[in-house]
Amino acid sequence: MSKRDYYEILEVSRTANDTEIKSSYRRLAMKFHPDRNPGDDLAEEKFKEAAEAYAILADPQKRSLYDRFGHAGVGSAAGGGAGFDPSVFAEFGDFADILGNMFGFGDLFGGGGRRRGGPQRGADLRYDLEISFEESARGAETSIQIPRHESCETCRGSGAAPGTSASTCSMCRGQGQVRSQQGFFTVARTCPQCRGAGKVITKPCETCRGAGRVAKERKLTVKIPAGISTGQQLRLQGEGESGAAGGPAGHLYVVVHVHEHEFFRRDGNNLFCEIPVNFTTVALGGEVQVPTLDGAETVKVPEGTQTGTTLRMRGKGMPDVNGRGRGDLFATVQVQTPKKLTREQRKVIEELAKALPKEKFEPRPRGGDDAQDERNLFDRVKDMFG
Ligand SMILES: [Zn+2]
Ligand SMILES: [Zn+2]
Repeated sequence: MSKRDYYEILEVSRTANDTEIKSSYRRLAMKFHPDRNPGDDLAEEKFKEAAEAYAILADPQKRSLYDRFGHAGVGSAAGGGAGFDPSVFAEFGDFADILGNMFGFGDLFGGGGRRRGGPQRGADLRYDLEISFEESARGAETSIQIPRHESCETCRGSGAAPGTSASTCSMCRGQGQVRSQQGFFTVARTCPQCRGAGKVITKPCETCRGAGRVAKERKLTVKIPAGISTGQQLRLQGEGESGAAGGPAGHLYVVVHVHEHEFFRRDGNNLFCEIPVNFTTVALGGEVQVPTLDGAETVKVPEGTQTGTTLRMRGKGMPDVNGRGRGDLFATVQVQTPKKLTREQRKVIEELAKALPKEKFEPRPRGGDDAQDERNLFDRVKDMFG
């Protein structure tokens, strides 16, 4: 499970100054503000995420803690949820300043029934899963252990001790916010008594201490489709954190990291490898064993094959993750020169050497300049086969 980096969220560099941070946040808050994106959950998440990041990075002390210790330093990883604490807004003068300028001061948080403390979707979780190259080629099923917050069974998520229920907050009369007059403006603030929930738990549930959610380790089975590659993610719907106040659960994103193979390199669905071939085999023509995902296969090497020649084996690459066939395997011939010769072998080769013409420089087959030598194998092979 990991949270996004605050600098990344605000789209600023680690060395950004306060003005840069503020203006970037202003821009994102405008873009993702719920009033501008009604019903758009993703925008809402981004809006909250940006607010959370700004609350930390705009505060020099919190920012330095974050720089040194990451999310752990500012306690944002604790408590689960979106890590979004509505009270941050209340304490956070600048925020009122920014949104006040944009949307009119009077109805900062109150408009559109966006009362905090209402149903909230649970946070998405991320799990980084490492798999072997073979598992990515064949597909696999694996079980993972996810620490997450789930609805408390004792109180069924209400946070109130069994047999009791939460009562309406007396201070805000259930509104979750209190309003006060300041000159011409009415300023809405999160209710300090219920912290925006609109309800007060008089007798908290003992299991979850009133939170309504408890930390649990959950074992889940993940099906990995064949052909998956590093960076691709699987979405397990509703397997994230449970929502607050009856909101839906978030999703679990399993981000896949595939180990490198000792022999194959992958590019798209194609595989590349180098095969050692004896110099006698390339000279005379013959057969070599090429390892594939389905085991070794015999491949014909034509007489007079040069080193660097690439043989294409159709359909022997990686399976397509969406089930659209398979890629190809490109095996590049590496001529092996014997390192040690017996006396007899040496004699035969000396005879051969006398009979062979001297090496001579030949013009490049495709014209080209020196830069072409620098190009890597992938590019050259792609050129060759389109
Ligand atoms: Zn409980
Ligand atoms: Zn209240």
